[in-house]
This record gives sequence, structure tokens and C-alpha cells, in this order.
Amino acid sequence: MFEGLSKRLGDVFDKLRGRGALSEADVDMALREVRTALLEADVALPVVRQFIDSVRPKAIGADVIRSVTPGQMVIKIVNDHLVEMLGGTVADLDLNAIPPVVILMVGLQGSGKTTSSAKIAYRLSQGPQGMAAEMFGGAFSTKRKVLMASLDTRRPAAQHQLAVLGEQTGVPTLPIVPLEMPLAITRRALETARREGYDVLILDTAGRLSIDEELMTEVKEISDLAKPKETLLVADAMTGQDAVNVAKAFNDRLAVTGIVLTRVDGDSRGGAALSMRAVTGRPVKLIGVGEKFDQLEPFHPDRIASRILG
Ligand code: GDP
Repeated sequence: MFEGLSKRLGDVFDKLRGRGALSEADVDMALREVRTALLEADVALPVVRQFIDSVRPKAIGADVIRSVTPGQMVIKIVNDHLVEMLGGTVADLDLNAIPPVVILMVGLQGSGKTTSSAKIAYRLSQGPQGMAAEMFGGAFSTKRKVLMASLDTRRPAAQHQLAVLGEQTGVPTLPIVPLEMPLAITRRALETARREGYDVLILDTAGRLSIDEELMTEVKEISDLAKPKETLLVADAMTGQDAVNVAKAFNDRLAVTGIVLTRVDGDSRGGAALSMRAVTGRPVKLIGVGEKFDQLEPFHPDRIASRILG
């Protein structure tokens, strides 16, 4: 673990071996390497600065315990702080409400909203059974009756895409009514879910290629009507710096309750997780690790911290 950063810090600290406490100069030298590691992991620049500023006072003056080198000591302090900033422990979905409990999926087009909707629907509908179930606990331990509805009326294929995923995962989707508008679909979905005794209703909203006012107003109206218990912001881990602006815009307008980070299976080092958490203050709850509907995992702050530090 931390081979990359360890090596870098090892070089920096070669001269310092055996000192009792970390001096200001030692720490600053080490934090320059940490800064580079965070930037390489695509953590947004303002978040990198914030991180360095908050970890610095913790490291200065820290005793270097006998069994480790000063470099290892800095890594431990940085790693602990990073895990804490990422939320510390796994954050559960909150579905404690009178059914149907609504989960609203928001984010940019192509971020993985529809895929993530189907993944969450599949996992909730399987309860403790099904593929990859052993990884999940909390809200996912109870088998639930789930309905999905696509509110994306702009992209012609979007509603059909969700219907196909529904068939693959065995999760029912709201029948498509041509030319129906998003708010009307929301109303019909809520009525259907109530009437047919669904526990959870997942609403997949339309995304755009960039944040725009019309989209934001539409999502806000849907949210006001559906009163979601969870509003999950879906973001692509590969988008790096952009992810921050997206997160901020959504979080400013909606009560985002959690983040789903997708494409954590790719080359991305996961820095977006730290950026998203720092900018919104909301926990990353789930990660997408592939295109298949069982490739969803809970978010473990300690695992991502190791990946970010490299
Ligand atoms: P939407 O426009 O936000 O609804 O995005 P989609 O759900 O249609 O996803 C866009 C593309 O990303 C599709 O090709 C998905 O298969 C792919 N995708 C979604 N999540 C993941 C993931 O976690 N890993 C990988 N590798 N691909 C993903």
C-alpha cells in the first residue's frame, strides 16, 4: 500500500531518519509530495489546498514512534485525515419513511444515472440474496418491492433504456406513455407505487451535457412533488475537476443526501470522491465498478484513501 507516496516520502525523509518529532520544515517538505499525489489522483485544486491546510497542524510536532520512519508517520497522519474527510465509515442509504420511499437520481447526462438506478433497484429488490449481496448491509439487508420510472423525456431512448434494464434485473418499470411530461410521469409513478404497494420508487431524471437553468428548475419541481428521502447525485469519477462544479450546482439547488460515484473501475484514482465530499459535505454512499447491474459496491473511505494516495 502507498508504494508511490512511500517512495517519494522515503526519498524526502532519508536525511531525517531517527528524529523525535516532525518539524515544520519536515512536514512542509512531505506535504509537497502529498499535494502532488492528490493532484495526480484528480482531486480538485481548491480541495487539495483545503486538505493540506487542515492536515498540516496535525502533523507538525507529531511524535515519530520508534517502529516507523518519519515518512511512514506522515503517511499515517495523512491517511487517517483523508479517511476522516471521506466520511470515516460506510454511509448507509436512508429508507426509513412511509412507503413508497422515493429515491431521486440526479446528475449530468452520461454520468451513469440510469445504470445506477437499475443497480440500486436490483440490489434492493434482492435483499440479502442475489449476486454480490454479501458486500451490503444496512438498508440493503431487507428485500424490497421496487418500481423504477424514467423522467427523461428529452432523450428519446432514455425511457426504453430503463425499461430494458428493468427486464434484465427483474425490476418493474412504470409503463411508458408517449409525450407525457416529467411532472406528470412523477405524479403517475407516485400513484402507481402507492396503489400497488411498492416499498421504494426510484426516479431517474433527465441529465444534460452541462448544468443549465431549465434542467435545474425541472429537477427542483420534481423533487418538490416527489419529496424524496434520498436524492443521489451521480457523478463520473473520471471527470476530475469538472465533477466539483457539477456537485456544487446540484447541491446548491437540491437537498442532495448522498453521492454515487461511477466508473471507479477505470483508471481513475478516485480523487473525485474527496472533491465531491468536500464540496457538498454529503457522503459518497455507493460506487459503480462496471457496466453490469451487479457491479455496485458500498463506499469504503479507507479503501479509496489508499487508492487516492497511491
Ligand atoms: P446516464 O445518461 O447518466 O443515465 O448514463 P448511463 O447510465 O446511460 O451510463 C452511461 C454509460 O456509462 C453507459 O455506457 C454505462 O454502461 C456506463 N457506466 C455506468 N456506470 C458505470 C460504471 O460504474 N463503470 C463503467 N465502466 N461504466 C459505467
